[in-house]
Amino acid sequence: MSQPRPAPLVGLRIAELPEVVRNQIAAGEVVERPASVVKELVENAVDAGATSVRVDLEEGGIQLVRVVDNGTGMAREDVALAFHPHATSKLSTLEDLDHIASLGFRGEALASIGAVSRARILTRTKDSDIGWSLVNEGGNLGPVLESGAPLGTSIEVRDLFYNTPARRRFLKRKEAELARCLDVLQRMALAHVGVGFVATHDGRRLLDVEASMDLAARVRRLFGAELADALEPVAMEQGSLKLVGLVAPPRFARRDALRQMWFLNGRPLKDRLLTRVLKEGYRGFLVEGRQPAAFLALSLDPDQVDVNVHPTKSEVRFRDERRLFGLLVTALRAAVARTDIATPGDRMLESAERRGGWVPRPSAGTAWLPDPGAETRVREPSAAGVDRYLDAAPEPPPGYALPAASPLEQAERHWKQGQGFEGPFLQVARTYIVRALPDGFEVVDQHALHERLTYEGLRAELQKGQVAVQRRLVPEIVELARDEVALVEQNLAGLARLGIELSIFGTAEVAVQGLPARLRNPDAAGIVRDAVGVLKERGRLPEADEVLEELLHRTACRSSVMAGDSLDQSAMRALLERASELESDQTCPHARPTRVRFTLADLEKAFHRR
Ligand code: ADP
Ligand code: MG
Repeated sequence: MSQPRPAPLVGLRIAELPEVVRNQIAAGEVVERPASVVKELVENAVDAGATSVRVDLEEGGIQLVRVVDNGTGMAREDVALAFHPHATSKLSTLEDLDHIASLGFRGEALASIGAVSRARILTRTKDSDIGWSLVNEGGNLGPVLESGAPLGTSIEVRDLFYNTPARRRFLKRKEAELARCLDVLQRMALAHVGVGFVATHDGRRLLDVEASMDLAARVRRLFGAELADALEPVAMEQGSLKLVGLVAPPRFARRDALRQMWFLNGRPLKDRLLTRVLKEGYRGFLVEGRQPAAFLALSLDPDQVDVNVHPTKSEVRFRDERRLFGLLVTALRAAVARTDIATPGDRMLESAERRGGWVPRPSAGTAWLPDPGAETRVREPSAAGVDRYLDAAPEPPPGYALPAASPLEQAERHWKQGQGFEGPFLQVARTYIVRALPDGFEVVDQHALHERLTYEGLRAELQKGQVAVQRRLVPEIVELARDEVALVEQNLAGLARLGIELSIFGTAEVAVQGLPARLRNPDAAGIVRDAVGVLKERGRLPEADEVLEELLHRTACRSSVMAGDSLDQSAMRALLERASELESDQTCPHARPTRVRFTLADLEKAFHRR
């Protein structure tokens, strides 16, 4: 038996949806959660020329998002229009879409927000002594009323999704919503140097940056001195393209991308191309699956980029992607290589202290800020939630003065490569080299360092066009599956460029004729199997840069035999000196650190002299 059929819909009249419903539907594109409200309102405040923006949140922003600015304010006629869809003061012709400088331009945000909340505008311009207010209850506008108001605009959004329960159910616990709001606020605060931001949650201060603080000072305030001190500047200019910003050493990478920020012409965005640029910039320095910390501002001619792809403007399309990609990666890699990648010894001491049950030092910076990652940490569904977290954190010091780095800490940062070759060196367990430095000492993993050397050497040779090959007197035969032999056969030339010279020996065997000359005691079979593995995984010819890189990593790893080698003084010196000439000698190609460094300050702490 067939299912009973639904009644046909013919005969129903086509009707335009009522405006309120249309706006509720449109709201779905722009307003997803409290954080989207925060983003739209703060953008509007910045567009209005504000130099001071205050954001108050209640219950993770679900109960209240209020943004107060000291911008231009709105005249009576403008207030009346602000909640209308497609009402905007920022764009009037289609051509304007090509050179949008302001953050908003679609005129959708306020209409959408008003459709799904109880919203209220209170505003005054400098030309008027009286201000205006207007209420929007789920899309129903009240009259524009005369109201006393300070200069600027305050927009209040209460009870988000109160009239769309299905959407409201999609919201997470208030701690999680708060974390997202905070992420948006941090991005806005870093994007808009020149604008001061204060944010509170349920009456407690969340974030505070003064208008006068530059990018570095803002990063320090938001994320602490340890990160701020380790940042390396990036700057690149090429025609209308300009990149400035700060990149952190790989050890600051995290599982989430909360400390990874791109700003395009002043607007925070998460863009696939730019994410790839960072990944490429850190290739070989990071453990898989980690996101580097970096704060990068890109300026481009507005007509080189289409920002109108997505309503929330977070994805864009670049005109000349390939060129842009190359330029950015080059600039970033150079900066990443300049960061101090060694593991600081004091980290190890700190964890030892904790194990021993000693009271850990309060870390400098903003311990009083909830970590946006708190949503994963605060487990208990208790009402306290993030508040408990905030309560536990110390209040900001008066005036928020942060401790200056001690002279020793400064000395540590100024350690230059090229020091510490005088010796003598100490080899421990045929694995580690210990050497004195002007302000401490360093423990080097000789195997990891040698891997990095081999890898960088191969890379350099490859960039010049050809890897030097050591031919074999007696070729080594490696067994493979039939389809693998076929794969090798298709890629003989590409592999040869890498210095892996093979010939087909039978249906299930290949002969290794030569391998890169710089490999010591290479494991031929291992290298061939790795190459086949990469070809299978990526399914691409090794001409693609990525595959070459991957092969280089593995090849370098298969042949570095320095673990377990007993080294004399001159061998240790030679290894350290050669490594010091590299682009970066501080991690192995798989991003394990090659060295741990102890400063005098660390030693003093360890011996309780301080
Ligand atoms: P858009 O920002 O895309 O123009 P919105 O819906 O966000 O659209 O805002 C509509 C209009 O309301 C803006 O174009 C602007 O004229 C006015 N407006 C909104 N917020 C403010 C504010 N904080 N200060 C001054 N004017 C504002
Ligand atoms: Mg807007």
